[in-house]
Amino acid sequence: MSFIAVDIGATKIRVASGNRKGIHEKRVEATDRENGPRGVVTQIITMIRRLEESPRAIGVGSIGPLDLERGEIKNTPNYPFNWMPVAEPLRGEFGVPVRIANDCTAGVLGEHVYGAGRSVQNLFYVTFSTGIGGGAMVDGHLLVGKDGNAVEVGHLTIDPHSEMICGCGCPGHWEAYCGGMNIPRFARSLLRRGEWRGSFLDELCGGDTGALTTEKLFDAAKRGDEAALRVVNEIGMVNAVGLADIVNAYDPELVTIGGGVALNNPELILKPIQRHADNHVINRMPKIMITPLGEDVILYGALALALKAE
Ligand SMILES: [Zn+2]
Repeated sequence: MSFIAVDIGATKIRVASGNRKGIHEKRVEATDRENGPRGVVTQIITMIRRLEESPRAIGVGSIGPLDLERGEIKNTPNYPFNWMPVAEPLRGEFGVPVRIANDCTAGVLGEHVYGAGRSVQNLFYVTFSTGIGGGAMVDGHLLVGKDGNAVEVGHLTIDPHSEMICGCGCPGHWEAYCGGMNIPRFARSLLRRGEWRGSFLDELCGGDTGALTTEKLFDAAKRGDEAALRVVNEIGMVNAVGLADIVNAYDPELVTIGGGVALNNPELILKPIQRHADNHVINRMPKIMITPLGEDVILYGALALALKAE
């Protein structure tokens, strides 16, 4: 009998079996977004059954916001429906303990138990994905909050007068500039001012800024395109401010970075942060690195939650 870890994402569901030593087997599927909350729950149950008919306990790292007491996802901007029960249907189906955490809270726990933060008591995990999220361990304690949403750093305000409106409706949040979903819009606002005609990025987009994507921007930057590198540096400046806010607020020894945007572009995300964060920090700078657990960091955290749940 194994423990089961579940990572509920906006676009992907990951499920793994494992134990204290780590993950045994993993399955990844595109999230069923077409059939309401019940569709996603059924998908998770089916994926678990394919790995383990009778799990010992289940840990879940999930997109938020969460209602931790009820074990539910609530008011999420990431799904076409805004509410989904998680803990109760899994408990009902398998009759075992289920523990749930915000995905990045699970991420920092995964880093602490299985990753780069094993002996570290003050640790922070940031994800650069479609959005930006964080998880904090302070003095060995996982920060959770009254509803499970203690560390929503993606919604730290960079500029209250900004025209960049966040998915949550507020102006100038960090994620409004640097979340994977919003990077193209931020890039367009910069390129309108700058000269980018004739650049490789211009060519990739067929001369249409409307065709600009996060992937194209970083691909062009990797090829050394100056227009793209200018935008990537601006993104890096904003990320450095966000990171500095984290260092000033949580005083971590180590910050690990994950999420698709960072994992696909480690140098282009990490270097500007390392270069500029110092300018905004009053606390002693921590070590900042890409998570060695890659795209499984939340899954490892969910596994650690399952081990605690039993
Ligand atoms: Zn926001």
